Amino acid sequence: MFDLCQVRYYSGYGGDGIDPSSQPLTLAMRILVLSDIHANLTALEAVLASADGQWEAAWFLGDLVGYGPDPEACVARLRELDALCLSGNHDWAVLGKLDMTEFNPDARKVVDWTRQCLSAEALGFLEAQPPMRVEGPFTLAHASPRHPVWEYILDLDTALDNFAHLSTPYCFVGHSHLPLVYALDEAAEEISGYVAPAGEVIDLGPQRLILNPGSVGQPRDGDPRAAYALLDTEAATWEYVRVPYDIPAVQERMRDLRFPNRLIRRLADGM
Ligand code: ZN
Repeated sequence: MFDLCQVRYYSGYGGDGIDPSSQPLTLAMRILVLSDIHANLTALEAVLASADGQWEAAWFLGDLVGYGPDPEACVARLRELDALCLSGNHDWAVLGKLDMTEFNPDARKVVDWTRQCLSAEALGFLEAQPPMRVEGPFTLAHASPRHPVWEYILDLDTALDNFAHLSTPYCFVGHSHLPLVYALDEAAEEISGYVAPAGEVIDLGPQRLILNPGSVGQPRDGDPRAAYALLDTEAATWEYVRVPYDIPAVQERMRDLRFPNRLIRRLADGM
């Protein structure tokens, strides 16, 4: 399991050295940052109700489908938001763009079901999304900037390697379903990482950052509440938010569809 708080010094990491002040936050807006919705419409609706009126644009970091019972409805709801979207490994698996041998059997089962039940229009929408993009000083990648679809950033070494692959000071990723913060202080040659609690506010200051908002539809940090982040480019802050949702209602839909028990149970455990 991920160490709750780690700090260490390094000496050289192969990166160019990027001063965040060299790439100013030119767009002034509040952005709702979501990741890993995983076909959980109830969690998505709870997030949208909780964040209502607090954002002007939405960014989604991938894995819209897989694991959950509402893929078509989640694609439709996300399209209504006019969100900037990425595709993730589960989206790719549904599209047949990824070998599923590394998926566990439970995840594979739901991927197969999802592929059969999605409309051609929804599949076309997933197909059109890239796994990575750059927006001003922010790189957005589903998994990591080095391997946008597959790599988990779960330790300081992997985070350090990925800072070297960035041409922007800041990067937002999903994939691990954990609300993670990695901060690189290039002047001090120090890197740190931790799992952020709800309510944590991160300043987009001189440190370079890789931030994960956590998962909307299947959190894995032991807190079953849906996770998201609010990015305010004017105040230069990123805030971690958690919101409860009706988990038993989602579990009931999963049982009706005869989804694997382990997937049903883990929603309540937040693992
Ligand atoms: Zn995911």
